[in-house]
This record gives sequence, C-alpha cells and structure tokens, in this order.
Amino acid sequence: MFSFARVEKSTAIPVHSDKIDLPASVLESLVKQHDPLPHPLTFRLATATNVCYAGVREFSAPEDTVFVSGDLFEALKGEGGFPVQAELIELPKATDLSIKPLKLYKNILDWKWFLEAKLTKYYCSLTRGQTLHLEDEFGSYELLIDKLEPAPTVCIIDTDINLDVVPLNDEMAKQFLHRETIDAIRVNENAQTNKLLKLELEDHERVLITADTDFVVSNLPNVSDHSFIWHTLNGDNKLMLQSTFPYFERTLYLLPFGPTLVQLSPYSFETANPVSSANVCSNCGATVAATSKIMHENFCLRNNVKCPHGCGKVFLRTVPENHWHCCEAYGDDETSFKRHQKYYHEPVPLECSRCSQMVSTRLVDHCVHVATSCPYTLHECRFCHLMVPKMEASTDALLSGMSQHELECGSKTTECPRCKRNVRLRDLESHMKLHELNRVSKPKPVICSNVNCIREAATSNELKLCEFCFGPLYSPINDPTGQKLRSRVERRYILQLNSGCGNTWCKNKECKSSGMASFKNFGEILNHIKTQLMNSSVFYFCVDLATTKKLLMVSLLLDEHEYDRAWICKAVQAKDNLDDVRSWLSNNAVRIDEA
Ligand SMILES: [Zn+2]
Ligand SMILES: [Zn+2]
Ligand SMILES: [Zn+2]
Ligand SMILES: [Zn+2]
Ligand SMILES: [Zn+2]
Ligand SMILES: [Zn+2]
Ligand SMILES: [Zn+2]
Ligand SMILES: [Zn+2]
Repeated sequence: MFSFARVEKSTAIPVHSDKIDLPASVLESLVKQHDPLPHPLTFRLATATNVCYAGVREFSAPEDTVFVSGDLFEALKGEGGFPVQAELIELPKATDLSIKPLKLYKNILDWKWFLEAKLTKYYCSLTRGQTLHLEDEFGSYELLIDKLEPAPTVCIIDTDINLDVVPLNDEMAKQFLHRETIDAIRVNENAQTNKLLKLELEDHERVLITADTDFVVSNLPNVSDHSFIWHTLNGDNKLMLQSTFPYFERTLYLLPFGPTLVQLSPYSFETANPVSSANVCSNCGATVAATSKIMHENFCLRNNVKCPHGCGKVFLRTVPENHWHCCEAYGDDETSFKRHQKYYHEPVPLECSRCSQMVSTRLVDHCVHVATSCPYTLHECRFCHLMVPKMEASTDALLSGMSQHELECGSKTTECPRCKRNVRLRDLESHMKLHELNRVSKPKPVICSNVNCIREAATSNELKLCEFCFGPLYSPINDPTGQKLRSRVERRYILQLNSGCGNTWCKNKECKSSGMASFKNFGEILNHIKTQLMNSSVFYFCVDLATTKKLLMVSLLLDEHEYDRAWICKAVQAKDNLDDVRSWLSNNAVRIDEA
C-alpha cells in the first residue's frame, strides 16, 4: 500500500483514460517486492469516500504525488479531500464484454475493430456500468459497459475478450438494421435522397454525378463524412469519375450532406467541351441557336455577370453576397463555406489516429486516407467475405493486387470439392478453372452398342459392345469373315424372342419375357431377326437387374435434354443416386450446349 499526499490532474495523460503516473520510488519498492513485476500494473486508488482502478502510464511523477487522467480526477474528487492510497492489485482478466453505444454513430461501421484499436490504448481496466469515452479525429463516442465477465471490474490487457456490441434500445436497433437497405440508381437515372445511395455504373467508362449539395463517394458502403475517396468539397456539386481512377469500382456509394436530387449520367468530353464556339454565348457560355446569338449576347451582357474570380458561374446582374471563393474552392452558401473551412483549413493532428501514419493537417486528407491507404480501412475480403481491415500491405500483397488481409486469409488451404486435394484459398479460383477446362475438353465416352446397356464399350470387340454384353458371344475359334459371330448373335436373338430370358423384370423389347415382343410363329421371329435386328447398327440384348434399374435413371435424365446419353450413362454407371449422378455430371460431363 502506498500513500500520497496529492492527486493532480495531468494534461499529459489522455482525459478519457484510466492512466496514472506515479513517482519513481514506487517502482523501486515494487521491484524489491515482486519478481517478476506483474503485468499490467493495476492499482486500486482510494480516497476517504471514493474508489477507482487505474493502470500506470509511467513512473515520472514527483514524490508524494499521483498524476491522474481527467476522468479519474473527477471520480476521486470528493468531500473527503485528496490524500489517496494506492494498492497494487491483480484484477481478473476479462472474458466477455458487451458494450452499448449511447448514440448511433454512423462513422463507426465496425465497432469491434474500432474498440480493438482504441480500448487498450486508453484503458487497462473496465467496470460494469461505466461510461467510456473514446475519440478519433472525427469525433468522440460514448459507450456504456453493459455486461462484463467474470467480475464487476476486470483487466482487459493481454486477454482474449468475447466482444459484443448491442444497440441501446429498440429504436437504435431499427437504425442499425436500416443501414442494410440502400437505394440504388443506374446511369441515366436520378433519385431524391438524403442518405446513402448506391451507384450502379455497369460498363460506363465515365460518369458525371450532380447534386444540389456537397456529397462524398467511396467504393464501400461505409462511406461517411469522415471516410470517402471522392468529394465535391471545393467546387460545384458535380463529380466526374472514370474507370481509370484508382479505387474505381463498378458499384460506388454516395453520401450527400443534405437532402438532394442526385443525377447519374454518362460523361463525354465532347459534350463537356464543345469544339465549335460558333453558337456559344461569349458571356455566359450557354449554347444558343445561331440565329438568336446576337440577340442573346446583347441581353446577356446587359443583364448577366460572370464571377470575376474565374469559377465560370454566371449570375443575374450581381454576384450574390454568399458566393464565396477560398483557395481553389468556391461555393454558393454559408454551409458549404463552413464545410470547406472544416475540411481544408481547421488543422487536425498530422498522424492518423488509427495507424499513426503521417497524413496531413487537413481533415480532407485524413478522410481519403481512411477510405484508401490506411491499414485499418475496411474492405470485404474476397475469401472470407467479412468486412475486415486491409492491414499494412507487404510487397507481396502489393504485387498480387490483394490486401494484406486477403494475402494471409488466402494462404489458408481448403479441400477442393472436386478432387479433394488441399488448395490455397487464393489459388482455388484458378484451380477450379483448370477443372472446368479439363471438363469441357474431355471426349465423349463410347457406350456399349447394346441399347439396354449403360456400360462403356470395350475396345476388344468390333461390335462396340461392353465386355459384359460381348462375353456370351465370345469364341476363341478363328473367324476372319465374322460369319460365326453373326450366327451367334442371331442365335441369341432367337433364344430371346422364342423362349425369353426368364426374368420377369426384363425391359428388353426384343425379349419374350418382357411381354413387349409377340410373334405368331417361329417364322415371324426369324423374319424379324433377319430383316430388322441383324440389319441394325445397335443390339437388343437382355441385361441384369441392376442395369435395368439404372436404365430408368438414364431415360429420366435424357428427358431433361441437358446431357448426351453417353455422358448420362457414364454418370449413372459411376454413381447410384440421382443427386450424386447430377453432381457427377456437372463436375465431369460436357453439356449439350457446350459441345
Ligand atoms: Zn449568355
Ligand atoms: Zn465564383
Ligand atoms: Zn480554402
Ligand atoms: Zn491510417
Ligand atoms: Zn478474409
Ligand atoms: Zn480440385
Ligand atoms: Zn453392354
Ligand atoms: Zn430379357
């Protein structure tokens, strides 16, 4: 236990934090008592009436004095006056933390990342019911510590915390959800809006966005007045974007600074800069009919004045008082002037408060930094599809055109659903393409020439029958003309049509057992065999029960006209149930429309 005569508020310590500075003598005696020193060094501070918890920032305070943050000073101040006792304690490590933002802060899209970046920088302990104050260059945020486990006061340093951010009330919950539905417009469309608007540019190379007020645009839906890539903060409420711009995407997000009509139109240099000046008024620049040009110019010169500061605007008689110019910027009202001052001329800290990179003292540069190059810029990872920070890009990431997060995320392996081999996520796309390439270039299988059979034809016989169907016809006797083979085929047909194969389930239409073949006498059978069957290029032999069943599946799939019979037979041969057959087909077979 240490006692101090004085507690003083220090401006060197962030106001909203639980940090304190202690005299060097405290460290000296701690080192003597503890080996190793506990980490973090957490103290319970107590005056006669108040108690709070604090983490040590440094040991640089004068003897007998504690320097505390503004918040701690307020918490300790009381009737009991100011001597304070400090006791080194070990707080339980936090496991679960649930936080309620006290307002809907539109700036913050991902509280978890925001809190991870901020929380432990300013706090080393948290207490249930406490209100946290966090800040960045865009504003300050108040958050209520709602649930906290495993104790009412916990340490948050060096521990994995289950963090949950919950809306304060139903109203806010609605607003949380509201952000999900975003209106969208396409080129040549417009929309009246005062909130986030999605711009679908499709294949337009250049577009012009116009509005009645200033607006900002980004390539992510988390565009806000502190995170954007393009803006109209220094001129007309017009913005030309083209596909060659860095960060350009086919889908962009616009946020206006007030209610406005937003128009999205295709942009071409020809219409923007007419080549011929013949029909353009020399005063106001309007295009007028050749016949009325002189009349218009006479009227125009007498009644309209052009802004003398070079913005090109033309006004009726006089330049209005609220038309302003400042550095390169100009505008027509007080609000846009103030906005320009805020973004361009009211200095902000040089460093980005998230990544500590040097940015500039202009707010506008921070906003662009946050939306583009800041490692904490959120993006949707193409592999895990989460909104996560891009992280500081390594050379590998820069070369690959991926964010650092994606490079790392994509290095994880996954099992290829087709070949079951382990493939890195970022190679999966090209790996799958290879499978596809393989698939469409595969030759069509040759199926047994017995129409009742679905097996692949054997190469060992000229009849293109499978080994199974050819088996009964095989003979080792030399047969150069094939005459002996023909008579064996003929004999097999006679048996089938005269006596049948004896299987009640037989579905062979050229077999007596199937009930589909009926002849008056033996002569008719012989005639049918000679004139029909022996002249056909295919065969009609009976098959086993399993094949008969599979043949039903083949005819079912054939009716869908998606795949050739040969592919269907091969699939049905390889797989047993319809779902497996279908997925085998889509992974291996060439569709009719691809052939
Ligand atoms: Zn004119
Ligand atoms: Zn002007
Ligand atoms: Zn200016
Ligand atoms: Zn940054
Ligand atoms: Zn990822
Ligand atoms: Zn594979
Ligand atoms: Zn066969
Ligand atoms: Zn049969």
